[in-house]
Amino acid sequence: MEETLPHLLNNVLFIVFPVLFYFIFLNEEDTARQTRTFSKFAIFLLIALCLTMFFPAEYSDAFIYDLRIVPILMAILYGSRLSGLSLILVMLFYTLLFQHSEFYVYLGNYTVAFILLLWIKPRYIKADRFKRFIIVTLFYLAIAITRGVFLIHTGQVQQLPLLVILSLITWFTILAVQLLIENMDKQTRLKRELQHNEKVDAVSQLAASVTHEVKNPLTTVKGFLQILHEKDYLSDKDKSYLRLSIDELERAESIIQNYLSLSKPQKDPYGIVDISSVLQNLIKLLATYQQNIQLVTAVEPDLTVKGIKHEVQQVLLNIIKNGMEAMRDHPGQLYIKAMRRDSDVVITIKDQGKGIAKNDLKRIGEPYFTTKKNGTGLGMSVSFEIVKRMGGRITVHSELGYGTIFTIELPLTNL
Ligand code: ADP
Ligand code: MG
Repeated sequence: MEETLPHLLNNVLFIVFPVLFYFIFLNEEDTARQTRTFSKFAIFLLIALCLTMFFPAEYSDAFIYDLRIVPILMAILYGSRLSGLSLILVMLFYTLLFQHSEFYVYLGNYTVAFILLLWIKPRYIKADRFKRFIIVTLFYLAIAITRGVFLIHTGQVQQLPLLVILSLITWFTILAVQLLIENMDKQTRLKRELQHNEKVDAVSQLAASVTHEVKNPLTTVKGFLQILHEKDYLSDKDKSYLRLSIDELERAESIIQNYLSLSKPQKDPYGIVDISSVLQNLIKLLATYQQNIQLVTAVEPDLTVKGIKHEVQQVLLNIIKNGMEAMRDHPGQLYIKAMRRDSDVVITIKDQGKGIAKNDLKRIGEPYFTTKKNGTGLGMSVSFEIVKRMGGRITVHSELGYGTIFTIELPLTNL
């Protein structure tokens, strides 16, 4: 026992250090642990796994004790499926080479554990911190009890007290690593949110100070150009120049409108907005204006939310316009659906356009992020902001080459 304990404490370090190193050398892009098939995270866990297996703490001839369960558990719960599976395979391969007699026991145990963890994982991801802690504890408790029963069956009762201590240490290690990962994840999340908010704040300050001043002269100029455009004595060429000027002014206006919606202090009070009729009107307008895109619509009547009508219009228009722009070289259908789901209004806008690359997907909603030559990169960040203020959320799913789905969820209000 005196010999086993220091060994085991070394093992704890073998596990904790690689995880710590991972977070020390972590850069922003590596946070995609769940989606990347084999991430850096898995490599660091693999190192931990090898260390703990090469330098185990033995406590009985028939039983070698190490902390291999910890990296494997973490790889499955916090990494991708493949990284969990790879770690198990490496572990089994090692067992086959160096602990031949144990191989089938490990094969059986870890197959069961892997299947069980895959079943647990979706629930684990949704759970809050405390529940995660309980889930992991229960899972490990099941393992420890199985070990105890095995010892009793094989007549090694005298080993039980040691098993209890070892299991406690393992349990603490699991919790320590779990806490470490959770805390680090939280920090990265907060940092990202902060950066995003800073950008939005900068934009809205600019908006508040400049846009009002610019908006009025623009409207005046546009008005006079429109009057000129109607004059008979102008040649067609001159008229086309004027048309171009008016179009460009309209573009400038829409940019300013976007800036204005970003600026925080809202003068207009929230009222009740009938999303169904806003959408119907937009669709009518688009149908006359856009001929080469096929609109497929399904809008339930009387969907009402709390908000400001022109802001809601703006959100919908921004998203629909992006969908249409994405289909410029990919002709197809644009679906616009709105329906009631529980206490929410769910609006889905689906295009069959060029789709969004994975790396760009993360940046949608960031002020000034655009992939278009004449883009402003304001439409999405304004829309995200408005929907957030209304207590709703926007989610984006996209596949490069196939299209994009925007889902807007807003809390329903009753008239
Ligand atoms: P802008 O349209 O001026 O570029 P947005 O904020 O509206 O700015 O959109 C930001 C970026 O998001 C676009 O440049 C485009 O790359 C991407 N995007 C948004 N919606 C879609 C879509 N439906 N399909 C493909 N890409 C999209
Ligand atoms: Mg846009």
